[in-house]
Amino acid sequence: MARRTLTAGDYLFRLGGRSECGYLIEEGVIELRSLRVGRAGGPPMEVVLARLGRGELVGELSAAEGVPHSVDAVVLSEGAVVLTIDGEQIRDRLARADPTLRTMLDGQVKRYRRMLALLRGNFADASAVSSVTGDEDGLGKFRLEDELREALQQRRLEVRYQPIQEIASGRIAGYEALVRWDHPVLGAIAPEAFIQLAEETSLIMPVGEYVLDEAMAALDALRADPMPFVAVNVSARQLVSPDLIQRVVARRDALRLPPGCVKLEITESQALDPEQVAALISHCHANAIAVSLDDFGTRYSHLTHLYRLDFDVIKIDQAFVREMFVSSKAMNIVRAIVAMAQAIGADLVVEGVETAEQLDFLGGIGCRYAQGFLIGRPEPLATVLAAR
Ligand code: C2E
Ligand code: MG
Ligand code: MG
Repeated sequence: MARRTLTAGDYLFRLGGRSECGYLIEEGVIELRSLRVGRAGGPPMEVVLARLGRGELVGELSAAEGVPHSVDAVVLSEGAVVLTIDGEQIRDRLARADPTLRTMLDGQVKRYRRMLALLRGNFADASAVSSVTGDEDGLGKFRLEDELREALQQRRLEVRYQPIQEIASGRIAGYEALVRWDHPVLGAIAPEAFIQLAEETSLIMPVGEYVLDEAMAALDALRADPMPFVAVNVSARQLVSPDLIQRVVARRDALRLPPGCVKLEITESQALDPEQVAALISHCHANAIAVSLDDFGTRYSHLTHLYRLDFDVIKIDQAFVREMFVSSKAMNIVRAIVAMAQAIGADLVVEGVETAEQLDFLGGIGCRYAQGFLIGRPEPLATVLAAR
């Protein structure tokens, strides 16, 4: 970023001039001026659109788009100082911004440009203003959010159950509940495509409640001796809800299900607030609900979670199993995680087990549970019940 000092009366840029950078005003005042069509066929008049001061950006939108400036920027004060910001840098930041924010910015910019074009009497330009962010992602999100809300109302979310096997006995000890969205046009949508969207809005609460309710009904249907468990994924946003656990306990008691049959999985791929999780875990333990740390070993993995937070189960991310027979380092990490889980008294579930070779090896090193396509894919409840 280069610093420029200017004199009163200088033009920082002119209407129609090429723009490669925007400016951050450090000192002084800069006025934005445009021409407006004269009344009753008279000559055009100059109008002041804004006066900008310290900390404000100027010329950044034209720089982002690489289009000519739509106004004059005139320096009003002696010794004004601006920092130049490269257009490429602005484009890069916009590309990384939240799509909804980008759509909102686009809307505002379009309105502003249209207004300027009308002011200048340029009606053709007013109807053909371009987009500053160059995409429609944000709008797609609004649409998807609306459809997800409708899917919830029409109960078009489906919960599938993937078996979790106790390796030593070969017994199916329980299931993980995994949500799917049966979209009328796009078909079955994987949770990765919409859970994040639900998390960004308040929709994660009803989606989470839906899955919990379905999981409780599934437990009711899966009754057996020994009783299998169902593990439900909860996202960080749900942890703030005080009645999450009350809801589970109330349903469990109403259905007279044995304690211990519901587990919650919290994924490490979310930045967890350790205090919130600690409170949730102790609340769960007071109500005989076990808590698993999901996808351990990836992204936000934090070893402090393991000794500060009293997780009952650790689930190793499938990435390790995939690499286990390819890289001896990955295999040693799996061994180390198994030893660590044993040392802290947590059960271990290895995710993504796809071959008999992987299963044998994991059983051999003392891993208690396995989950993966080898044991079974996530299936509708009816299929799970029919296969028993
Ligand atoms: P997760 O909790 O780690 O779930 C395991 C994912 O791995 C599932 O993907 C499952 O289908 C997949 N998987 C299981 N075994 C294998 C295997 O052997 N090979 C391979 N390649 N994949 C396997 P899915 O169902 O697409 O779920 C993805 C993620 O979405 C879940 O990861 C979980 O974080 C999230 N999720 C799913 N349902 C819910 C939900 O109801 N609420 C919340 N908050 N998140 C959910
Ligand atoms: Mg999970
Ligand atoms: Mg997982």
